[in-house]
Amino acid sequence: MTEKRLINADVVDVNQLMPLKYHWAWEHYLNGNRNHWQPQEVPMGRDVATWKSGDLTDDERRVILRNLGFFSTAESLVANNIVLAIFRHVTNPECRQYLLRQAFEEAIHTHAFHYIVESLGLDGGDIFTMHRDVNSIAGKDEFDMGLTADLIDPDFTTASPEGAARFVENLVGFYIIMEGIFFYSGFAMMLSFHRQNRMTGIGQQFQYILRDESTHLNFGIDLINGIVLEYPSIWTPALRERLAAKIDRAVELEIAYAEDCLPRGILGLNTALFRNYVRYIADRRLERIGLRPRYGTANPFPWMSEAIDLKKEKNFFETTVTEYQSAAALSWD
Ligand code: FE
Ligand code: MN
Repeated sequence: MTEKRLINADVVDVNQLMPLKYHWAWEHYLNGNRNHWQPQEVPMGRDVATWKSGDLTDDERRVILRNLGFFSTAESLVANNIVLAIFRHVTNPECRQYLLRQAFEEAIHTHAFHYIVESLGLDGGDIFTMHRDVNSIAGKDEFDMGLTADLIDPDFTTASPEGAARFVENLVGFYIIMEGIFFYSGFAMMLSFHRQNRMTGIGQQFQYILRDESTHLNFGIDLINGIVLEYPSIWTPALRERLAAKIDRAVELEIAYAEDCLPRGILGLNTALFRNYVRYIADRRLERIGLRPRYGTANPFPWMSEAIDLKKEKNFFETTVTEYQSAAALSWD
């Protein structure tokens, strides 16, 4: 029997799940299953009443609409990248088991935005085209889509060190940058409404999405670090510099997005706080893939990391999920 590998497996081994080698992938799969939810389980009546009552200012509505616009299509961008680019090249069966679960979760997330648009009576044609029409959203999406182009070329292979490095770059682009940085200003904005007990149906769905996304991020980090461990020669200073430069550019794009969402500041949030938050988040992501943090800013939203990052990562390392067994058990303070 040949030794299992994350990429470049023998064709025969693609379907041999057991014995498991990458137990972390199986744990992420089980964790995703435990957190299963569906958008229509979340009542939207109060949100609809608030949305129609005129209790929200124009700036507050702008934040909500911008984030619906960004996430509604970012979720399917991630799903398409998994199915069309990543799945083909990750040949290990336990990782593929997780990727199948993740792809379904991305479909649930896209469904959540369909459900929110329908509930609030919004124009879906406006929301689902912001990735083309709103510069700050288009900037983020185009930046990430550029990383998929090579991988969907039928001649692309991870068999060469250059190919494997290019693949790692795509994984960093989607797991670290898209799901790990580009989602986080939006999470902080939408959960700020929820903390004020407004638009709680949307807020609850964003909590569930965030919970799923933190597992996606942890899987991506394990996959990236695992590939680098198996192919240490690809982890050159040149690749590390390229990745750090990409993350730096992503930080700029994410700050520009936050500025566009909050031109005047609301809910005690303003662009100066987001600048520090995005940099703080980026430093945490850099560390997780063995790159040096570069910003050194403190977390201006400690409630975000207390409630999400720390709890989830603690759970992850204990490989048990205690707080989040079911939708009913999920609470926010
Ligand atoms: Fe998602
Ligand atoms: Mn995701």
